[in-house]
Amino acid sequence: MDHRFKELLVLREAAENGDGTVLQITTNSGTVIHAISVAREGFSYTGPTWTYLFESDGLTLIDAGEAGSHSRLEDGLKVAGFSPKDIDRVIITHGHEDHDGAVAELVHKAGVEVWAHEIYAHLQAYDPRSISRRAISPIQKEMWRVAEVNGSFPPTSPQRDEYVKRRQTLRIDHPIKANETVGRLEILHTPGHSPDELCMKLDEVVFTGDHVLPEISPHPTMKVEFPPDIKAGLPDNYKNADNWYGLARYLQSLKMIVDLGSQWELLPAHRYYNRGHFNFINTERAATILDHHGQRLTDILEKVGGEAVNLENLTRGIFAHRELLSDNLLAGLSEVVAHIEILEDLGDLEVAEDGIISATGQSNHLLFLSELQS
Ligand SMILES: [Zn+2]
Ligand SMILES: [Zn+2]
Repeated sequence: MDHRFKELLVLREAAENGDGTVLQITTNSGTVIHAISVAREGFSYTGPTWTYLFESDGLTLIDAGEAGSHSRLEDGLKVAGFSPKDIDRVIITHGHEDHDGAVAELVHKAGVEVWAHEIYAHLQAYDPRSISRRAISPIQKEMWRVAEVNGSFPPTSPQRDEYVKRRQTLRIDHPIKANETVGRLEILHTPGHSPDELCMKLDEVVFTGDHVLPEISPHPTMKVEFPPDIKAGLPDNYKNADNWYGLARYLQSLKMIVDLGSQWELLPAHRYYNRGHFNFINTERAATILDHHGQRLTDILEKVGGEAVNLENLTRGIFAHRELLSDNLLAGLSEVVAHIEILEDLGDLEVAEDGIISATGQSNHLLFLSELQS
C-alpha cells in the first residue's frame, strides 16, 4: 500500500529496521510532520520508537523514546533542523518505557512541558506491576501458576526499577482529558493496550502510539481490579478498572479508529519502516486487528469444544511451539487469558475455581463481534 500524504521525503535513511530514520511528511492540508525514529539499546522485537514533531499551537513532540536514548532523539531532531530547546511540549502516548522513558531527560535538558492522559498522572506513583500482577480471578491465578512452573517471568532489571522510580518524579504539566484539542490536534483516549493510551488526529493523519501497529498485533491487557490503596486515591470516574483495561476495552478502542473512516492515514509508534520497506497503514489496519481477535475468540471456543481443558494445553494448542519459548510463554498465556475473560463475561465459557475451562454451549461472542465489526 502507498501513502496518501502530499509528500514524503526521507531526510535520513538508516538501518534495515528503521533505526535512526528521519522523514519529512507534508499532509494534504500542508502541515509538516517530522517522523524521527529513536533506536533502542540492543535488540528489540518491536524495533525503534517512532516519535513525531509538528507545529500545533507550539512545537509538539509525540513520545520521546526509551530511557537513555536522549542523545539519539537529539541527533534525529538535528537532521530535521531542530534542537530539543525548540520543543514546547511532549505528549506521551502511553506509560510504557519505550515511549516515556526519555521524557525526564528531555525535561531536564530542554525544559519542555509534559502532557499525558490524566489517568497517567493518577497512576504514575505506582509500579505498573503492582496493578497488573494481582491475580483477580481463577484464570489469572492459573496463568501465574503455569508461568511459574515453566520459569517464565516478566523480565526484571535494574534499568526497569530505575525507570519506574524516575517516572514517579515526572511532573505532568497538563493532564489530558479525552477529546481535548491543542491547536488543530484532537486527542482521543483509546485504552486497552495501556489504560492511558492516546491517539491523536491532525489533518488526515492519526498518531496511534501502540494502539494500532503495522506487522504486529499490539498486546492487550488482561482485566484488572485496582488494589484498595490505589483505588482510594483515584477520582470516582476512574475507579472502575474495566473501563481502562482488558481485551473488551481494547476492541472497543479499535472500533473508535475504524469508525473514523478509511480516509485516515495512521502514524504508528513502531514498525513504520522495517526490513527495508515502509509499512503505510490506514484505519483498515485497526479493522484487521479487530478481526484477528474476533477469529481468536472463535478459535478458542472451538479448541475447548466439549472438553474440560486447562490453560496451558489450550495456549500450546493455539501458538506454535517456537512462539512460546522462554519468556514468551507468559505473553502467550496472557493473550489467551484476555480472550477467555471476554468469553467468560459473555457466558460462552466457564472457568472453575481450579482454573479448568469448559464451554457452556452458548455463542454470545458472535453478537458481541458483529456489533464491533458493524
Ligand atoms: Zn506499549
Ligand atoms: Zn511501544
